[in-house]
Amino acid sequence: MNTLVELELSPAQAADPAAIRAACAARLGWDSGDWLVVPRRRSIDSRRGQPRVILTVQVYREEEPALEPPTFQHAPSRLRHRVLVVGAGPAGYFAALDLLLRGIRPIVLERGKDTRERRYDLRAIMREGRVDPHSNYCFGEGGAGAYSDGKLYTRSGKRGDVGQVLRWLVEHGARSDILVDSHPHLGSDRLPEVVASMRRTIQRLGGEVHFGHHVSDLLVEGGRFRAAQVNGGDWVPGEALILATGHSARDVYRLLHRLGLRLETKPFAIGVRIEHPQELIDHIQYRQRPRDPYLPPASYRIARDGVYSFCMCPGGFIVPAATAPGELVVNGMSMSRRNSRWANSGIVTGVTEEELQEHAGSGSLAGLEFQSSLERTAFVANGEGSQRAPAQRLVDFLAGRDSVDLPVSSYHPGLLPWPLARLFPPRLGAALRLGLERICGALHGFHTREAVMVAVESRTSSPVRIPRTPEMHHPGCTNLFPCGEGAGFAGGIVSAALDGQAVARAVARALGEERS
Ligand SMILES: Cc1cc2nc3c(=O)[nH]c(=O)nc-3n(C[C@H](O)[C@H](O)[C@H](O)COP(=O)(O)OP(=O)(O)OC[C@H]3O[C@@H](n4cnc5c(N)ncnc54)[C@H](O)[C@@H]3O)c2cc1C
Repeated sequence: MNTLVELELSPAQAADPAAIRAACAARLGWDSGDWLVVPRRRSIDSRRGQPRVILTVQVYREEEPALEPPTFQHAPSRLRHRVLVVGAGPAGYFAALDLLLRGIRPIVLERGKDTRERRYDLRAIMREGRVDPHSNYCFGEGGAGAYSDGKLYTRSGKRGDVGQVLRWLVEHGARSDILVDSHPHLGSDRLPEVVASMRRTIQRLGGEVHFGHHVSDLLVEGGRFRAAQVNGGDWVPGEALILATGHSARDVYRLLHRLGLRLETKPFAIGVRIEHPQELIDHIQYRQRPRDPYLPPASYRIARDGVYSFCMCPGGFIVPAATAPGELVVNGMSMSRRNSRWANSGIVTGVTEEELQEHAGSGSLAGLEFQSSLERTAFVANGEGSQRAPAQRLVDFLAGRDSVDLPVSSYHPGLLPWPLARLFPPRLGAALRLGLERICGALHGFHTREAVMVAVESRTSSPVRIPRTPEMHHPGCTNLFPCGEGAGFAGGIVSAALDGQAVARAVARALGEERS
């Protein structure tokens, strides 16, 4: 027999298998004996008094838990078809793996380098401010997900099985804790090896992965995709194309536009990264200083007056996430232990028609042009062509005065005191100020001289949608399948992976390999 038990424990008890067992025994009225406890769900409740861990465990007595067979053990006996997958981010790799399970051969074309080689280019951005337009924090194996914060939760469970995405990650080396934690997290030190392991599975099962393959043109005839041009040279044919190029591939949007394939504007948000000492966030959330060593660094999620926190990174770093020289973009990441001294989060608000007016002539690319112009303005702010980012103390931004100095920050290329209200269009700057005032009112302690705002957080999601039919192909091309965050149908690692799987199923149906 087996039974589910929900326990409320102190953080220290929740980390101690003997204490968990004792709590189960007390709850079930069992003596010590031959039974097994398997954690199923873990969350932290810090709403009332001291934080408690809510742990759901499954207790097995005279029964063993059933083990799931590995998904990718056997190579398919025969692979049919040839489907191009552009982009080796979570959407592209999950699509490729799913195609292989359906007996279809994926050919992955990725403009960047593998996870190992990519590290050198990240170092060059950090230390020398040199941005390689094909290999950076967004481009390269694993996409924007590889050197990210590695939060693995999503609010969009509609499109597929989140549990399956997490199980595939565990099969490729991720810690099994991610199957239990309510807010699973991997971190930038663990993600690249998981991603590389997925690539090895794709290759072992008969798929192909090609790095340094920038898709620069597409041949579309009579509403059908025929071939993709790589690096302006060779043409690679395919029976279908999965376009999983992420939200930063501006050249891809421009290419589709030039080919006359319809694009749509999509709502998106822009703002800053805000950074506080982690100890302060722990104090706000847990009311403890220092934090109980058995608790993870605290995080927050907050929204006021249309301004909201985005991709909060406890114990993390602010990183330079531009994808071309001459741009300045910031984002956040962390290591698996989340042990930096800082906590950062995007603080963003929606872009409106008012901001896009100046770029109205660009039609469906207006949002992209606005986003790009803001990033160029942020870049030139420092006047030295480096990745030193414009920044202002939160208290100064709210008081409307310049910052004469700045607190120490996790952002390695350095900060430059800058009046951020001048960087943003007036309505957007005023909206950020109003929302931040309300956020400061709600999170007691958030308003502090130690808090610094760093610009510009502009890549929260794609400003463009590549439309698709209910069969998931582009309305103007029956075998071109827009996929993942770049298509505007996902936001985050897990939702991009889910979309990759969903698109792979759609491709299989279109190729007659699976009934709908
Ligand atoms: C610093 C940072 C931290 C983040 N933290 C988190 C987090 O904690 N949790 C979370 O859920 N999400 C996070 N994200 C967002 C997440 O990484 C993305 O939502 C996700 O990676 C999108 O997946 P995707 O496969 O759709 O696109 P991407 O991951 O963007 O992958 C697209 C791929 O396509 C390639 N490509 C682009 N154009 C071409 C071309 N023309 N030819 C060939 N290849 C091309 C790119 O090189 C890239 O590898 C973070 C992002 C960043 C930048």
